[in-house]
Amino acid sequence: MVHEMTHAKVHAIAGHKVDWIIYEYIAAVIQVGSLDATSRASLFRAFPNFSAQNNSGMLNEIIYAIAPLAFVISAYVNSQSFPDQCKHIRKVISTNAIATQ
Ligand SMILES: [Zn+2]
Repeated sequence: MVHEMTHAKVHAIAGHKVDWIIYEYIAAVIQVGSLDATSRASLFRAFPNFSAQNNSGMLNEIIYAIAPLAFVISAYVNSQSFPDQCKHIRKVISTNAIATQ
């Protein structure tokens, strides 16, 4: 539900100016971010290879298609490397690109 509502909000803000993978990145970040700490920790324990470090190389259409949970976790972990989450998401929308650092 959070995931789909995020898609709707991004569409309201950016319309068709962003690629579909940008929609998925932002929805993944918000979806995992909306989990309570226990649920998020459980998710990360199930996928230790993707949650232990910032795997920005996982943030692409191919990974989303073949391993969507790896993409979702990698998106959240990537987003956490930015100190200002709102600024980060605004930049992702305005540049139509997933920033990495
Ligand atoms: Zn989606």
